[in-house]
Amino acid sequence: MKETFTTTCCYCGVGCGIKIQKDNAGTLQLSGDEDHPVNKGMLCSKGMNLHYTVMDKSDRLLFPQMRYNKNRPRQRVSWDAAIERIAAVFSTLIKKYGPDSVAFYVSGQCLTEEYYVANKLMKGFIGSNNIDSNSRLCMSSAVAAYKMALGEDSVPGCYDDIELADCIFVSGANPAWCHPILWRRVEAAKAANPNLKIIVSDPRQTQSCSLADVHLQLKPGTDITLHHAIGRILIENGDIDFDFIKNHAEGFKDYQKQVMQRSVEEAATICGVHASDLQKAAAYIGRSNGFITMWTMGLNQSVIGVNKNLSLINLNLITGQIGKPGSGPFSLTGQPNAMGGREVGGLANLLAAHKNLGNASDREFMQQFWGGTSISANTGYTATQMFEALNDGRLKAIWIMGTNPLVSLPNARIAEEALKKAKFVVVQEISNKPETLQYADVILPAAAWAEKEGTMTNSERRITYLNKITDALGEARPDAEILCHFAKKMGFEGFDYAHPSEIYDEHVRLTEGTHVDMSGLNYSILKAKRSVQWPYKKEEKGLGQQRLFIDRKFYTPSQKAIIHSFEDSNKSEQPSPAYPLILTTGRIRDQWHTMSKTGKVNKLKKHIANAYVEIHPEDAKTRKIKENDLVLVKSVRGEVRVNAKISASIREGVVFLPMHWGKILNRDLNRANNITNNLLDPISKEPDFKFSAVEVALY
Ligand code: SF4
Repeated sequence: MKETFTTTCCYCGVGCGIKIQKDNAGTLQLSGDEDHPVNKGMLCSKGMNLHYTVMDKSDRLLFPQMRYNKNRPRQRVSWDAAIERIAAVFSTLIKKYGPDSVAFYVSGQCLTEEYYVANKLMKGFIGSNNIDSNSRLCMSSAVAAYKMALGEDSVPGCYDDIELADCIFVSGANPAWCHPILWRRVEAAKAANPNLKIIVSDPRQTQSCSLADVHLQLKPGTDITLHHAIGRILIENGDIDFDFIKNHAEGFKDYQKQVMQRSVEEAATICGVHASDLQKAAAYIGRSNGFITMWTMGLNQSVIGVNKNLSLINLNLITGQIGKPGSGPFSLTGQPNAMGGREVGGLANLLAAHKNLGNASDREFMQQFWGGTSISANTGYTATQMFEALNDGRLKAIWIMGTNPLVSLPNARIAEEALKKAKFVVVQEISNKPETLQYADVILPAAAWAEKEGTMTNSERRITYLNKITDALGEARPDAEILCHFAKKMGFEGFDYAHPSEIYDEHVRLTEGTHVDMSGLNYSILKAKRSVQWPYKKEEKGLGQQRLFIDRKFYTPSQKAIIHSFEDSNKSEQPSPAYPLILTTGRIRDQWHTMSKTGKVNKLKKHIANAYVEIHPEDAKTRKIKENDLVLVKSVRGEVRVNAKISASIREGVVFLPMHWGKILNRDLNRANNITNNLLDPISKEPDFKFSAVEVALY
């Protein structure tokens, strides 16, 4: 006999629906869910092999472990002993150094309920905003830009807009590899409508470019110049929406002045593209009835990431291509639940339900709602700041949940030094593989995907319920249950949830009357409907909202969208004679983050088995590098040793390293973040992963 379950893929932010069949022996069979509106049965290679990550039990953490001091080995302990020790250490540190001496570093893979409890615990009861997520490395520039342009962190459109658009501008993204099922919808839309024009801007000729009508192979860091130049052409050609600009937007005059400062030819030279291609791209946009901009890390992971985002969103605003079918700015979230995390305030500068941390009455409201301590007005340490604060002693203890900073943070040796110096490190994980575990004083085994229930929200604001399909291994527990156990041990009230649905009910109650209102939702509705989009208000009885801003009223005080103006200079580390090349890092098709899940599926290794550096033939020739040669990629911060992949599809002067590898056992010489820099965008605090000065030489 087989039982059938529905759930959602836990990799990227596309949020594909999955069907799982489980037989009496516990063997899982997986397929795409034909009834799920996102993927209609399709899955990419990662999603298709997801069940193997659950069925392969060889690497799982099975019981809590603890060491009593840094010189002693960790030993198996009971849950109660582990949680009691953490509570004792956290209480002592908080008493001695204050609540800002401890921090939580969580993950965009957490379920919304887990994110909610972690935030409530830290912000509402410990009394510090030192809780940040690895989403800081991923979407925080988009979050800041949405707030600045639209008044709140709100993705205006939906996936159904893809089939309704006649121009899609993909800026700094490779969705063919990183959001594959979404890209298949774009491919199908283009096949059905050859008049749909695709523009891609990327220093690399990726697989997404094969669909492009124009590929703008720009120099890294010149995105704002490129977007401004397209804005200028649209204005000069009269291809802008005067009515929208007059009645629904602010800031156009300054923007016009700004973009007119460079001629199109000058901008083309700076970007390293042909002026005629800029004209062509602008003509496609200007002629379109429905225009979507899509982006991910190429814009977000930058020292000027917020401005890159704003300069792209500006193209939607000046053309009035927002709040109507087939249009809108569309950030593609990297992680499966980055959006859910943002709903519950999962970053150091946010409050739950999109409330404002800087607003005293919002903080007061949250304190009353939770019944805990007063909420601090200070922004907490963001992801990279936490590790700097551990290094200089401002932070004493960190609790890391579902993320592997020793591989994923920029200039990762800072994180390594920080964890060596930390007084106390807790790591809550599913696998015994992540490199970060070696520095843990306490290891807590967590239940994995399919071993717990909860919800996630994808890139189009679609919330899907995830079923528990199989029991957690050993003594592993769901993350929310672990956090509640700790909260109760600390003596905090309000963490006595009998079931995750009760956490969800509390979360949606809090959203009532806000722009992220989902007060009409509960687990029964989500189970019955499979997935819905927010807002989902109580009084609207069963209607989610596909698109926002259809009334052209934005969430700013004036209800107008803001067209921001700024100059286009890049603030990244500059190449030098010793480090003349620009390094950009990113994902490959079949691996995910630091490979703790995808790395154990043999089928996924067949695509690309090892780390490599992609280098242009001319750059390889001057360095006497041949295909597959072992090379060192060096920056002032360190080096990476990998094989060379010579390819004319990357711009001359630019090299690419995949972000996934980083085994300490391999003396960590394939860890891309040995050499990336730790510059941050000043607003979003997102790191500059897409621009580091490096040199490549034969090993
Ligand atoms: Fe999972 Fe993303 Fe692939 Fe869909 S596109 S199956 S969500 S990894």
